[in-house]
Amino acid sequence: MTFAATVLTLYPEMFPGPLGISLAGRALVEGRWALTPVHIRDFATDKHRTVDDTPAGGGAGMVLKVDILAAAIDHARALQPDAPILAMTPRGAPITQKRVRALAAGPGVTILCGRFEGFDERIFAGRQVEEVSVGDIVLSGGEPAALMLLDACIRLLPGVMGAPSSGSEESFEDGLLEYPHYTRPTEWEGRTIPEVLRSGDHAKIAAWRKARSVDDTRSRRPDLWERHSGARDQSASGARHNEGPGI
Ligand code: SAH
Repeated sequence: MTFAATVLTLYPEMFPGPLGISLAGRALVEGRWALTPVHIRDFATDKHRTVDDTPAGGGAGMVLKVDILAAAIDHARALQPDAPILAMTPRGAPITQKRVRALAAGPGVTILCGRFEGFDERIFAGRQVEEVSVGDIVLSGGEPAALMLLDACIRLLPGVMGAPSSGSEESFEDGLLEYPHYTRPTEWEGRTIPEVLRSGDHAKIAAWRKARSVDDTRSRRPDLWERHSGARDQSASGARHNEGPGI
C-alpha cells in the first residue's frame, strides 16, 4: 500500500524538496509513498486570488481565510477520504514518535501549512483538523514542519529503511534516548572507543547500551525519564493487580 501525502500550501514548489533526495527520494520513485502538493491559492474566488485578510480586532499580520482553507481541505478529503487532516501550528499538540508511528501505519496524511499569522480559528472545529506542533519554536511557515513530519513517517514505511531493527532501537521508540555510537578509528585525538564495545561480548554490550540509554535519558531529558519510569511503574502495578485473585 502506498502512503499518500497531500500537502495544502501556498508554496507547492517547496515539495518534495529535501524529501526528493536520499532515502525518502528513493522511496518516492519506488512508489512506497506518493505526494500531492495542493496550492491553497487555487481555491481563492476573487480575481486577485486572495487567501488572507486582516485580523478581526486589529493587530499586525494577515490571517488565512477560513472559506478558502475549507475549500482546499474539502478537495483534499475528496482525494483521500480516510487520511487524517493535520494542521501545523505552534500551539498544537507536540508531535511524538508514537503519533508518527500511528500515521505511518495508516493510509496517509493531509497536512495544512500555515503562513503569516496563521489560520482563522474556525477551521479547526469546522473541519476536524488536528493541530500539531514540531516544537516550541516559531517558523515562518508550516512547510518545513510538514517536511519534518513526512520525513519521520516515510522512514518507517515498509522497505524504506535498510535494517529492520534500526527503526525499533532508535531514540524515543521505548521512551528512552538511544545509546551513543562509535566507529573506527579506535583512537582519535587521544579519545578511545569504550572497551566493552570492542569486547565481542554481546550480552555485556547490550547491558552497557541499556545503562547508557537510561543514564543519558535521566540527565539530558528528565521529562522523558519521568514519563518512562511512570509508565513502567504503572504497568508493573497493573501486572501485580492482574496476578491477584480478582475482586
Ligand atoms: N501567529 C502564530 C505563528 C504563525 S507562524 C503564533 O504566534 O502562534 C506561521 C505558520 O508557521 C503557522 O501558521 C504554522 O503553520 C507554521 N509554524 C510556525 N511554527 C510552528 C511550529 N512550531 N510547529 C508547526 N508549525 C509551525
